[in-house]
Amino acid sequence: MVEVLAAEGIILHHVKSLWRTVHHDGALDLTTRNFLPPLKRWVAASVGEGKAFFLDAPEVVDEIHSSDGLTRKFLLRLRDGQTIETVLMGYQGRHTVCVSTQAGCAMGCVFCATGQMGFVRHLRPGEIVAQVLHARRILKTIHPNKRLRNMVLMGMGEPLHNYDSVMHALASISDRRGAGIGPTKISISTVGVVPAILRLAEEQRPYCLAVSLHGSTEEERSALVPASKRWSLAMLMDACRKYGEITGKKIFFEWTLIAGKNDSPETALRLAELLTGMDAHINLIPLNPTGGFAGVESRSGHEFQRILQAAGFPCTFRQRRGIDVAAGCGMLKAEKRLRPANVSKMTLNLARNPGQTPG
Ligand code: SAH
Ligand code: SF4
Repeated sequence: MVEVLAAEGIILHHVKSLWRTVHHDGALDLTTRNFLPPLKRWVAASVGEGKAFFLDAPEVVDEIHSSDGLTRKFLLRLRDGQTIETVLMGYQGRHTVCVSTQAGCAMGCVFCATGQMGFVRHLRPGEIVAQVLHARRILKTIHPNKRLRNMVLMGMGEPLHNYDSVMHALASISDRRGAGIGPTKISISTVGVVPAILRLAEEQRPYCLAVSLHGSTEEERSALVPASKRWSLAMLMDACRKYGEITGKKIFFEWTLIAGKNDSPETALRLAELLTGMDAHINLIPLNPTGGFAGVESRSGHEFQRILQAAGFPCTFRQRRGIDVAAGCGMLKAEKRLRPANVSKMTLNLARNPGQTPG
């Protein structure tokens, strides 16, 4: 922004005010803002449909609320018509946004509705930032005094398959002059893209890492996670150990419990063995049933948890956060329950229109 606007003779102070308007206030319409004349003129000439820049503005095409009222899930339509899911979760006074990083996903996990749709495209940084700004705007209408402090990249898509755009987006989102979500309050969840895990460590990225494991042997895991044929469990565990050594940080391992596939006490023991010596926290996720897979009885889930805890690992159940309808990743989109009556504009960040100056 500084570069583009300096070329137009606009001073840094005004650029800061534009950044704040877009990334902090989440303005819907820049033309009505009270900018000083040089910036106002630039906005009128350069921002809007058919101009050099636009405010990325997906539409809400569907919205569901959990029965406890604490969770709202949105189906958003992007400029090219693709739809993605974003979730705002409120729990014990803490608010978290769960964002998508791709339309669809190439990784094909057999129990995941998004994986079953296949890959469509990567999201641009602006489309990722936009989801956070939308959640902030919604939160403001529900709880004007609450701040959105947490973010998880656990919506549709594999964040580390879209590395550069995700990093670009997170830099904006964690900027204190923008959405201001602290980098340690941002969790990147990955299916295990090994080179990208190592890159996160080498680049000393300040975010939390969550690794979706789901299997304690090559065979068990590759039956659920086809990507593990490319990056084997052994390669993944090596990368996680290196990540831990380089960063000194704890890794969160996610484990979706699926009846008859990865829920036995033997599997729990093997998992404990696999993680021996690591600074690890295990998050057990109750399956949102899709494609013929079934979740586990709470008794066997708790037995699985007990074994890991007895082995010395912190092990918790991921709260279902009150999501009780079309709950899992990609499931709202899969339902295709589009209700046009709910359409509303949402705020986005400034992005360059295609076909204009490169960059
Ligand atoms: N692609 C990344 C992030 C998105 S998926 C990843 O796989 O980690 C986020 C989490 O939701 C993953 O742990 C994934 O295994 C889990 N998940 C996907 N479908 C699910 C379902 N139907 N029930 C429960 N968890 C699911
Ligand atoms: Fe992709 Fe994650 Fe779903 Fe696997 S679980 S298909 S990696 S979104």
